[in-house]
Amino acid sequence: MSKIENTEVSKQLESLPGELPVIPLRDTIIFPNTMFPVLVGRTGSLAAIKEARKKDTLVLLCAQKEPEFDEPDFEDIYSVGTLAKIVQVLTLPNNLLKVLVSGVATARVDEVVADEPYLKARVELIDKKKVKNKKKLKALIKKSRERFEKYVLINQDLPEEILLGYEQYDDPEQLLFFMSSYVELELEQKQELLELTGITEQYTKFLTILTAELEMLAVSQEISEKVQEEIQESQRKYFIQEQIKVLQQELEEDEFADPELAKIKDRVDSMDMPDQARKKAYEELDRLRKTPTMSPEYTVSRNYLDWLTYIPWGTFSEDRLDMKLVEQELDQGHYGLEKPKGRILEHIAVLNLVKRMRGQILCFVGPPGTGKTSLAKAIADAIGRKMIRISLGGIHDEAEIRGHRKTYIGSMPGRIVQAVRKAGTMNPVIILDEIDKVGQDFRGDPSSAILEVLDPEQNYAFNDNYLDLDFDLSQVMFITTANVASQIQPPLLDRMEIINLPGYLEHEKLEIAKRHLIPKQLKTHGLLPSRVKFRDEAILEIIRKYTAEAGVRSLEQQIASVCRKVARQVVERKTTGKKLTHATINVNKLHELLGVEKYRDRDLDKRDKTGSVNGLAWTSTGGTILQIDVAKMQGKNKFLLTGQLGDVMKESAQAALTYIRSNSDRLGVEGDFFEKNELHIHLPEGAIPKDGPSAGLAMTIAMISLLTNRPVKHDIAMTGEITLRGEVYPIGGLNEKLLAAQRNKLKTVLIPKDNERDLIEIPDKVMEGLEIIPVDTIDQAMKYTFTNSMVKKR
Ligand code: ADP
Repeated sequence: MSKIENTEVSKQLESLPGELPVIPLRDTIIFPNTMFPVLVGRTGSLAAIKEARKKDTLVLLCAQKEPEFDEPDFEDIYSVGTLAKIVQVLTLPNNLLKVLVSGVATARVDEVVADEPYLKARVELIDKKKVKNKKKLKALIKKSRERFEKYVLINQDLPEEILLGYEQYDDPEQLLFFMSSYVELELEQKQELLELTGITEQYTKFLTILTAELEMLAVSQEISEKVQEEIQESQRKYFIQEQIKVLQQELEEDEFADPELAKIKDRVDSMDMPDQARKKAYEELDRLRKTPTMSPEYTVSRNYLDWLTYIPWGTFSEDRLDMKLVEQELDQGHYGLEKPKGRILEHIAVLNLVKRMRGQILCFVGPPGTGKTSLAKAIADAIGRKMIRISLGGIHDEAEIRGHRKTYIGSMPGRIVQAVRKAGTMNPVIILDEIDKVGQDFRGDPSSAILEVLDPEQNYAFNDNYLDLDFDLSQVMFITTANVASQIQPPLLDRMEIINLPGYLEHEKLEIAKRHLIPKQLKTHGLLPSRVKFRDEAILEIIRKYTAEAGVRSLEQQIASVCRKVARQVVERKTTGKKLTHATINVNKLHELLGVEKYRDRDLDKRDKTGSVNGLAWTSTGGTILQIDVAKMQGKNKFLLTGQLGDVMKESAQAALTYIRSNSDRLGVEGDFFEKNELHIHLPEGAIPKDGPSAGLAMTIAMISLLTNRPVKHDIAMTGEITLRGEVYPIGGLNEKLLAAQRNKLKTVLIPKDNERDLIEIPDKVMEGLEIIPVDTIDQAMKYTFTNSMVKKR
């Protein structure tokens, strides 16, 4: 605007308040100090412009609240707007005017004068010049300038030239509206800015909006840069790969562009691989050379090569077959177990002679915690071989043993090859745990694969699906473990030399705890043996009241639990300053640490009762006492069996009943007993799996006791299968059953005569204090079972 015009405008401004035409703007706001073209087409507005030009007055431009309204009146427009001077008018076709307006100042509609033919009002200037806090305004202006400059620089839609001229604005209001006109604002935001009554408030608002806009800009810019980068990166990769391919084609046969492949090739060359494996490796390398790195085949081949080259081909540890050393090692870590140790030494002796292990595979059989795994480990340590354990429990799928063919994405060799790789030698000791739990179902039968692994006739060329070559397992020493030998599949059982570890007696457990478990746990828990003492009574208390097992696994866990608690006390005392130097674990302390006893001696009834007998059961966790109760009630010919009995056991109860009925006269059972009574046999403790025929004798005696009203001695237990003719047949698990009898402090045990010969195998300690009576028939058994052997007639 020129100086002259400026003076004219100032004159007009001075004449305010006064009447002026008001022009509604649909969707824009013209700020003071900015120039803008507006299109005018509505009749009212056209008339207003005409009038204003005629009289050469300013107009008030007010924004519409709703842009859709075609004929807005004062209700529909904001009352605060911008006074503007009409600079130029261009007539367009269609009766439209393009009017260039220049904003002058903010003003407000003071009073409506007319709605027709155009909007006319008394207009009043809004004065914003009064500034309360000049410093604050100055600071606001400075910040706003800074941000605005930044905004212009990073906003690609705005030319930097904007910044050239704007330095000249030293009037705060002019500057504000200049900057505002370049920042993208919503109509409402603009209106708000216009309406704010103080310049300081206006700057504050502007700065807030500007800052938010800047952040938005920064974020969107970051995003677009990222996208750009990613595009470039993937293009770069693609180019490099293409280049490698081209280069590869120009290279010689055994040169590799990829340095990784060259390394693998070196590894293959330097390894003592069997020819078949080497051939496979070369084939695979050749394939890789021609395959683009990005393709899935590349990964498959690379994986295969990795496996192939990380198998310890040709690496063997040297055996130390020194019998003395082995014996020492076994003794050092294990108390007792004379027989198993002897068998192991024999095995090693044979190894000494034949050098190459062909033939029997050791299989340790016994309940959990009897030292099977730790014996196997000791063997490996003693002869200086690496040791790897594979748990076979719950393996149903042959592929777990043998692997999947490599064509499946993500496939791997089976557990056996994995174990050898992990061991790092071709002749480790591999312990196959829980060989009795190998499952067989619709997913396949892993036992044939295991058989191949264990069979010396086949295992020099074991076929793993993944490696797809003959893998020599003949130098591997396999040791297996199982809980119950009878559950091992027969073909596997044939290959194995069973070594029984039936469980420990109380005094053995005590020794094991003192010599091995306690020192081991103290060390693990960072406690000094000289500072923490376990009294024997306390150890026995743990054995009796906190565990019920054949092995020593829970015992070890309980000892660990005590150690943890002591360790905690030591640390806590340390921090409170009261030092805990020594701890003695006696029975009281033990109760304090371990809490309520887990097992109370079921105090096997100290009274002799009728219809109640101690049977002996044998499960995978060892032997236990199996109480058998019989009751009668009125009824007819009924026979009830409860306590979750297996079919075989139910049948043997039936057999017992039949035997009694067919001998009722001789036994002294009333002839019409079964006409009037029904019987109920119950075996409490649902947790013990109850099956098998070996409770036959005990059930027969319990029934005879009830039917003839003779009490059975409370300190006798019995085991044996029966026939309908009253013979007693042999049973399994004698050792475990005798151990259970011992543990429960029984005096007499009736066993089948045919099992008498097994007694030689049973350690004297197990039989100590037990009167073991072999019997052939039920009649013989009856001589020992009743308190009063006289047949009492009722
Ligand atoms: P399993 O394999 O039979 O289930 P482990 O070999 O794992 O049992 O033995 C459980 C724990 O008991 C191990 O810490 C082991 O060292 C210990 N243990 C078992 N028997 C003896 C023993 N005769 N002498 C010393 N420690 C033993």
